[in-house]
Amino acid sequence: MKVDSQPKGLVFSVDRNVVDDGPGIRTTVFLKGCPLRCVWCHSPQSQSKEQQLLFIENRCIACGACVESCPKDAQEISGTARRILWERCDDCGECARVCPPMALEMAGEWMTVEQIVDVVRRDAVYYKNTGGGVTFSGGEALAQPEFLTACLERCKQEGINTAVDTSGFAQWSVLERILPHTDLFLYDLKQMDSRKHEEMSGVGNAIILENLKRIDGRGRAVWVRVPLIPGYNDSIENLRQVAEFTKTLRNVEKVSLLPCNGAAGAKYSFVGRQYGLKDLLEYTKKEKTDFLKIFSSVGLAAEVGR
Ligand code: SF4
Ligand code: SF4
Repeated sequence: MKVDSQPKGLVFSVDRNVVDDGPGIRTTVFLKGCPLRCVWCHSPQSQSKEQQLLFIENRCIACGACVESCPKDAQEISGTARRILWERCDDCGECARVCPPMALEMAGEWMTVEQIVDVVRRDAVYYKNTGGGVTFSGGEALAQPEFLTACLERCKQEGINTAVDTSGFAQWSVLERILPHTDLFLYDLKQMDSRKHEEMSGVGNAIILENLKRIDGRGRAVWVRVPLIPGYNDSIENLRQVAEFTKTLRNVEKVSLLPCNGAAGAKYSFVGRQYGLKDLLEYTKKEKTDFLKIFSSVGLAAEVGR
């Protein structure tokens, strides 16, 4: 059944054949816009709720077309020097339209619910064979509640398993709307101390913890995901508190610890920003084992993911 008057959503990527965002083979739809500002965020282009210029410098052939097209004089080429004056740019997208090698691109495309469903159902046979489905992520998927609800509802009408990957930072009324159409929540637990949570993400954790308790109370399946950020939330004390809180929930099917890697740093240059984390070291095998022991000590089988 086609929906005539559909809300549109700002989407920055639709990835097919994903294996890390829920059970089986999945399609992950990334919605643009997020109320958090996590210091380790691996997709800085996801944060703004507007379309946004990206500059992938190694594709640039210095043709000068962007300089001619920019109404804000935000593009500069001088000899071999090439730069964007980001403070002048208003993300109008004129330069991206004329850039031959697509060194300039706009992040974010307005899509209808049916456009999303059309892409998602292409892999229906894989979902069926692997227990997969669709995952809505971000940014923060809950930040576009009307579009998200409509997409989830339509996917369920198609018989597709649905998951929402979220920070949990939203009004309960938003979660309540999507609950009937969501099979699984992938839910971040970053830091149990609200003040430290605010330091690392820009928001406190009270609403996040409360929402998780309420989702759990409604019997929805949850996979808890703990990003491990060196010096921010990987202390024994914090991980023990995360483990103890998680242990009080009844519908957690999986707990994953996800070490932050520095690969995201390069993406910050695409949007004219600098990555806040430097010189990230990989955790040793012993450190990972010690993290897992904290969870096993309260009776939880956690895993270290990618
Ligand atoms: S239009 Fe594209 S390729 Fe040409 S100078 Fe600008 S960014 Fe580089
Ligand atoms: S997106 Fe920014 S840099 Fe590009 S034309 Fe518009 S104002 Fe100029």
